[in-house]
Amino acid sequence: MACRQFDEVADHLQIPESERPRLKFPKRAMIVSLPVSLEDGSTHVYSGFRVQHHLTLGPTKGGLRYHPEVSLGEVAALAMWMSWKCALAGLPYGGAKGGIACDPHHMSPHEVERLTRRYTQEMIPFIGPQVDIMAPDMGTDEQTMAWVMDTYSMHAGYSVPSIVTGKPVSLGGSLGRRDATGRGVAYLVARAADAIGMDLKGATAVVQGFGNVGSVAAQTLENYGAKIIAVSDVFGGVINSRGLDMQKLMKHVSEKRTVKGFPEADAISNEQLLLTPCDVLVPAALERQITGKNAGQIKCRILAEAANGPTTPDADAILARRDDICILPDILCNSGGVIVSYFEWVQDLQSFFWTETEVMQKLYHILDQAYDRILKSSRDRKISMRMAALAAGVQRVREAKTIRGLFP
Ligand code: NAD
Repeated sequence: MACRQFDEVADHLQIPESERPRLKFPKRAMIVSLPVSLEDGSTHVYSGFRVQHHLTLGPTKGGLRYHPEVSLGEVAALAMWMSWKCALAGLPYGGAKGGIACDPHHMSPHEVERLTRRYTQEMIPFIGPQVDIMAPDMGTDEQTMAWVMDTYSMHAGYSVPSIVTGKPVSLGGSLGRRDATGRGVAYLVARAADAIGMDLKGATAVVQGFGNVGSVAAQTLENYGAKIIAVSDVFGGVINSRGLDMQKLMKHVSEKRTVKGFPEADAISNEQLLLTPCDVLVPAALERQITGKNAGQIKCRILAEAANGPTTPDADAILARRDDICILPDILCNSGGVIVSYFEWVQDLQSFFWTETEVMQKLYHILDQAYDRILKSSRDRKISMRMAALAAGVQRVREAKTIRGLFP
């Protein structure tokens, strides 16, 4: 998917064939075997991955994902998207992504900690605050980042907070980082609603995936006056056309660890959820949720891609023919996370920390600039928002590579 998208953008930008491989192939791709002692006394060997897409503009930056289906291909695609996302937001980073094929929900906290520390140990030769900086992604959180930071720091002999972002504030994390992706998604939905003349007050929203990003996006949209009518997670979904009370739902999730069984709603499958008529649809879980099969039946006015790669190229071709849907492409829509991660890294390097208000103001400023630029380019050149966003990202990396030239 990522390569197909790149080829289309390269065609659009008329990048010569000879230049394309330098932009397309990852700089480094690592696979590591991670033996870990389990609680039952046995040892299991997990597979871990890390891909650093390019190092042209600075260190690489990207999440660490724990999910049973993590593979080198998935991580490589996510790393490439991170490159275009960072370039679009004007951050001095290349893209990276890492992951371990595991199911953290069926492991004890000690097992997850040992796995995280072993992975970090294996990655030490390839990471660093000026080389590659990790952050949370699906299945990982602030605690995971704290373990990565501790393992790296024990190796260095002193505390190195700038080795990860998305860590607890008490370890040098940034105020606002935990909510940044979801709040950024909601902020851009509000901008898109303005652009199409839709009032968010009373608008209906559906959110797939109720983790860090989905739950914060849902709560923020509710704060903006929208009515969240359906949400889901890996176990299933819930729907109530009168609106779900986010505060009560959050309490239910903190007790049951799933949205399933929320008393004030009916059950709905993840497949049906995506087809629910609504004003704003927010896929905030996995890749490839909106496909050639369901894209024609989706009924929303704004499709806010909070997840990375939720829409396949086949679906994109179908959606491009539908002028009733405004798409906020993933590399713009969920960029709030990496933007505040960048702020966290800057604060750690200077050991001087900002207030949450300062962080959010700076975030909205960058999001506004990126959104305005992409909207203008899409309208001027009569291309989709996705093409405009990808083209802006690819072009910036291409220029940097051209100016730096080839070594030796
Ligand atoms: P998370 O682990 O906190 O939450 C993921 C949610 O998706 C959970 O509710 C999980 O149950 C649900 N889910 C998993 N598989 C599902 C399935 N098959 N169907 C429906 N729901 C499913 O992860 P997150 O950090 O919220 O990340 C979600 C998405 O956002 C990912 O695509 C991630 O790459 C992207 N993203 C995250 C950040 C960030 O800052 N965390 C930044 C940018 C993009």
